[in-house]
Amino acid sequence: MLETKIIKVDKNQPERDKIKMAAEIIRKGGLVAFPTETVYGLGGNALDEDAAKKIYAAKGRPQDNPLIVHIWDISQLNQLVKEIPEKARLLMDKFWPGPLTIIFHKNDVVPFGTTGGLDTVAIRMPSHPVALELIKEAGVPIAAPSANISGKPSPVCAEEVAEDMTGRIDMILDGGKASVGVESTVLDLSEEVPIILRPGGVTREELQEVLGRVDLDPGLAPGEKPRSPGQKYRHYAPDAPMTLVEGPIDRQVKTINELAEKLESQGLKVGIMATAQTRHLYTSGHIISAGDRTAPLTISSNIFTILRKFDRLGVDQILAEGISKDGIGLAVMNRLYKAAGYNVIKV
Ligand code: AMP
Ligand code: MG
Repeated sequence: MLETKIIKVDKNQPERDKIKMAAEIIRKGGLVAFPTETVYGLGGNALDEDAAKKIYAAKGRPQDNPLIVHIWDISQLNQLVKEIPEKARLLMDKFWPGPLTIIFHKNDVVPFGTTGGLDTVAIRMPSHPVALELIKEAGVPIAAPSANISGKPSPVCAEEVAEDMTGRIDMILDGGKASVGVESTVLDLSEEVPIILRPGGVTREELQEVLGRVDLDPGLAPGEKPRSPGQKYRHYAPDAPMTLVEGPIDRQVKTINELAEKLESQGLKVGIMATAQTRHLYTSGHIISAGDRTAPLTISSNIFTILRKFDRLGVDQILAEGISKDGIGLAVMNRLYKAAGYNVIKV
């Protein structure tokens, strides 16, 4: 068991002494969880195979699920990749720093331990000042998957990291709540038409403005084989089984009310993930609003915390409303599908 230090940092102007302490741990091969704009990352030296091994062990992550490498400046990129395609340059100009991960052909300095055995490496530049300062001070790129036990909902605040990682890592930098709340968009540029391997913080519409046509990996559909190794695993899952209801909103509410009533009559405890527009329409269950349907960023930043909350409440069944797949809604629905194990009712 490690003694996990939790250190509060100013999220806009992180204190130098704290960043230095954390960077020292990374350089020595240890693990530090830190805030990014998407979710909290579990960071280790991306160029150190042993550090990568420790990340997999701390998370209980399958060895073939590659890690995303985080950089603070474009100057770090040349060392890591064989070439930088023109499309990547356009995207980096527009979306870095930010929640976009791009797949490149890796150079030899990047160990296979970091890439899950692949010849490619996923790279992004986060926009959170704490993340940027930490990577800069460490002097090495930082491999950082989400700082949760593999399969659980990703953490968006230090308390949620501590829930999963206490005793498993050296330090947690507490920089408050992550603003986006879902992970980065992972993009593959190796084909003629760019392919979204995982929808995330940068939307398909935003990518299309820069690149023209952008496809969504058809392998993300239930029962298909996704192109990205990590996408095949059950993920984001709360302890309680979850049912996602999709369709016109009045019918969603009617169906969820009927299901909740039935489950409660069997003596089961029901959690309902509603929205600001609908929460007052439910007649039973433990109701939590994820946010405002007209402002989907309010929803994306809350979904993982609500799933964890239902676990703490010990509900037996979660019933969740679907939202529009426009914009960041695509990433939200991808996470909810997975959290529900594709248990979806279309009404
Ligand atoms: P996480 O670390 O939990 O944010 O998950 C990282 C995601 O990026 C997983 O879905 C991985 O499969 C994906 N990923 C990382 N590296 C690669 C790569 N080289 N090729 C394809 N997907 C990748
Ligand atoms: Mg993850």
